[in-house]
Amino acid sequence: MGFVKTRDISREIRERCGVFAVVGHPKASELCYYGLYALQHRGQESAGIAVLNGGRIQTKKGMGLVADVFTKDDIVRLRGGSALAHVRYSNVGDEGGIEDAQPISVKMWQGQMAFAHNGNLINAPRLRARLEQDGSIFQTTSDCEVIPHLMAKSGLNDPVKALIKSLSDVRGAYSLCVLTSKGVIAAKDPHGVRPLCLGKLDGAYIICSETCALDAVGAEFIREIDPGEVVFIEEAEHPGSDVGRAKPPVSCYIDGARGKRGMDLCVFEFIYFARPDSDLYGINVHAARKALGRRLAQKDSLSADLVMGIPDSSLSAATGYAEEAGIPYEMGIVKNRYIGRTFIAPTQPLRELGVKIKINPLRKVVSGKRVVMVDDSMVRGTTSKYLVGLLKAAGAKEVHVRISSPPYRFPCFYGIDTSSSGELIAAEKTQEQIRELIGADSLAFLDVEDLEEILGRRAGNLCTACFTGNYPIPLEGEYR
Ligand code: AMP
Repeated sequence: MGFVKTRDISREIRERCGVFAVVGHPKASELCYYGLYALQHRGQESAGIAVLNGGRIQTKKGMGLVADVFTKDDIVRLRGGSALAHVRYSNVGDEGGIEDAQPISVKMWQGQMAFAHNGNLINAPRLRARLEQDGSIFQTTSDCEVIPHLMAKSGLNDPVKALIKSLSDVRGAYSLCVLTSKGVIAAKDPHGVRPLCLGKLDGAYIICSETCALDAVGAEFIREIDPGEVVFIEEAEHPGSDVGRAKPPVSCYIDGARGKRGMDLCVFEFIYFARPDSDLYGINVHAARKALGRRLAQKDSLSADLVMGIPDSSLSAATGYAEEAGIPYEMGIVKNRYIGRTFIAPTQPLRELGVKIKINPLRKVVSGKRVVMVDDSMVRGTTSKYLVGLLKAAGAKEVHVRISSPPYRFPCFYGIDTSSSGELIAAEKTQEQIRELIGADSLAFLDVEDLEEILGRRAGNLCTACFTGNYPIPLEGEYR
């Protein structure tokens, strides 16, 4: 796909989320609760769990972190053998409130179901307009809600068949789970942009966004869900017993997607989103980031006193850089990890007084030093600019910024919120202009070829649209 203009897409793009589903375990809601904790980095705006009990679906959702939303009593009350859980991404200026929290529970003529997804359906606005003209009444602003409406109009009684038929109309990036009266249906879009994997625990099955959530509940990783695959896992006869019971997963493919094409896994999952202890298609995320950091150092001939990362997402890349360059790795800043959603940011006059709650440089470490500051990405340049200023104010003699990804020049339409408050700095500016703007002594990025070589060769195809403007899923309507 060709060039796409950079613009503020905050209202449309806000679905960086995590999903976690369990089939056939007596403690399904408890597993979901711990699974969501492990996926909290994928969304902090809202959290929700839906459970299936005796053919009925019961849901609890709320705004905020998993710890804020659920009490112990909630988890005890949410009894059932299968469950579906979701954490939703937070975005400043986001209009979505509690009604957009997932799972979205609906009663349709085919039965009660709950839906949760990660991604962005590019043709949702058009589908929704058509459905509304046909009389559908939507309850949320979430793009995911078009799916139950399409299913209800499919004329098919079987939820799996109705879902497959509906998904053949949907374009975009999605990793979706549906809780039905029998179990869970999981689906990944034919390009496989967002991650989704299958695991097993005590005869029960788990489907989730990242392998770190399988580890969190002691489940065994089985495999990634294929691009275009729809997996149905049904509860076995007596799910109420103490032993987990589920029938083996049954797979089919959207629109004959199987074997039709490769995948386009989002490269940003490796760069920033996923947790370092997750594996994506057999590649450990920490190891991948470290290799990217090493590559940065291989392309460099810098003399410096120390290398530092930005907690937490660039620490892996920074250690890779330091090892390769033979420059000591140091802790240059400390991030306060206990800042919750309700944190009130200091007002400008207080900021001018030097009130720094979220991040503090280690003055004694950086003072008088030539510092290499490695970050995983530069989107608007705000973080780099702020941190270079902070390090210089703490006495750093030189600050050399190294970004372990290429310049981010094109907006993402597949589920990443990357231009929430303004422009992509690299879309309009040269590297030298950016360096000047962020106040760094030097600046370097990786090339797309570096990513492809380090990740692509092992991960198959990757979506690099944010760096190249080559959008693997054709854009349409307002996204064009
Ligand atoms: P920026 O400050 O706009 O240049 O964004 C880059 C910084 O934000 C880097 O430190 C990244 O680790 C982090 N980052 C990258 N992508 C995202 C995202 N989608 N949401 C939140 N933070 C991000």
